[in-house]
Amino acid sequence: MTPCEQLVMKHDQIPVERRVVLRLALALGAAAAVHMIAADPAGTPVRPGGEPPAPAPAAGPPAGAQAGPGSYRLRPMTSNTPARFRPAPPPVRTRPFEKLPEPGSDAMVLSFDDGPDPRYTPDILATLRRYGVRAMFFVCGEMAADNPDLLREMADDGHVVGNHTWSHPLVPKLSRGAIREELGSTSEVIERTLGAPPLWYRAPYGAWNRNSFEIGAALGMEPMAWTVDTLDWTTPGTDTIVRRVEKGAAPGVVVLSHDAGGNRSQSVAALRRYLPALIGRGYRPTVPHRS
Ligand SMILES: [Zn+2]
Repeated sequence: MTPCEQLVMKHDQIPVERRVVLRLALALGAAAAVHMIAADPAGTPVRPGGEPPAPAPAAGPPAGAQAGPGSYRLRPMTSNTPARFRPAPPPVRTRPFEKLPEPGSDAMVLSFDDGPDPRYTPDILATLRRYGVRAMFFVCGEMAADNPDLLREMADDGHVVGNHTWSHPLVPKLSRGAIREELGSTSEVIERTLGAPPLWYRAPYGAWNRNSFEIGAALGMEPMAWTVDTLDWTTPGTDTIVRRVEKGAAPGVVVLSHDAGGNRSQSVAALRRYLPALIGRGYRPTVPHRS
């Protein structure tokens, strides 16, 4: 990056951060002090993998957003929230969370990426509802924009709606500006639909980089990876998915599955089996404190 670009970037970040602080204050209310309850977890370093192979580069800007690319940066700030109630943005991490910070002995997280997809997400929501369980959904902006009702259903059921970029790119291959577009436009569609921006994001393919940590933090989000990868996108069979979840179950683990991106009927069927099994073993699927 040239010195000129750095200057432009610094100048550009200021309104983004201020905007995020205001939005967080609005979303969380006056009394909510936003702090993670634990320090950065010890996990494996930034690495790719864990999700389907990266697709060919998408052509053109994200499509389907009511607000065009970049418009989220141009919105006027209209909040009257007093300065003393504005929580600080999260710190810039050097690695994502991979487990629940300081979980109880029975806590686990189920997470579903790439949706919402009207073919599979409703079944997953129905199963979670049947057992009164909350989960994390890392949605793609282009899917969220097409399925706002499903996004609202997630939020209404108490699930965490996280940011999984707009078009599911391989983030380290993107410019800093493009990463900001991918994450910013997705946060924008989530906020427009749910009334509050997301507090968590997950890099597609688990491919994080420093720019994504910095931009995610500036947008008010913490990075969440996973502990147990079901590899459900390879359609290994429902039995195999169930076995991977049950074998990987342990306090604080985060399970990765998908509710979109291909045929996810095995993921849907597996949840119906492993969720009651986990509960039967005493686990309590939940979501992180920050939500
Ligand atoms: Zn994904």
